[in-house]
Amino acid sequence: MKIICIGRNYVDHAKELNNPVPKEPLFFLKPDSSLLPHKHPLYIPEWTQDLHYEVELVVKISRLGKYIEPQHAHKYYKDVSVGIDFTARDVQAVCKEKGHPWEKAKVFDGSAPVGKQFTPISDLGGDVQNIDFWLSKNGEVVQSGNTSDMIFSVNEIICYVSQYMTLRMGDYIFTGTPEGVGPVAVDDVLKCGFGEKEMLQVLVK
Ligand code: MG
Repeated sequence: MKIICIGRNYVDHAKELNNPVPKEPLFFLKPDSSLLPHKHPLYIPEWTQDLHYEVELVVKISRLGKYIEPQHAHKYYKDVSVGIDFTARDVQAVCKEKGHPWEKAKVFDGSAPVGKQFTPISDLGGDVQNIDFWLSKNGEVVQSGNTSDMIFSVNEIICYVSQYMTLRMGDYIFTGTPEGVGPVAVDDVLKCGFGEKEMLQVLVK
């Protein structure tokens, strides 16, 4: 399986990092070795001094597709969860400055924790573009967003990405983070969820 991540998909997050708002979806990939086994802590790699959390809605692809047309995109997923797109912001800054790919800052082992359970969108009100999600650090909510604020909708992302590669059952799409990203330190406890529902907990080591 592959993990497709969308960058800068919320205006206020693009602004907080002084990035331009994209005119078309911006994507990169994480390998399956980025998935964090459940109940395992996330170890901060020794080569970063500025590891950031980014909470994101994660969409699980439910069927094979390529060149998916807009009117069919909604048939390619049913279930969602939350995930954290861990990013070594200092390493990413150097990559950006040099015009290099970002992967080095994004693909380390455990950099993509995803909730153990996926939830049918029908259980979250039925509209993938109206889901509240959040991340707390040590008990304080530091990111809270609603998917209605996405620049590119889930369906638009699916159409766009499937022009470039085949989507397979079981692939994940991280759909971008709202504002409020920030650093983690050893012993931080991160929790993420939908509304009242906690979906993921990560201990940082
Ligand atoms: Mg991200």
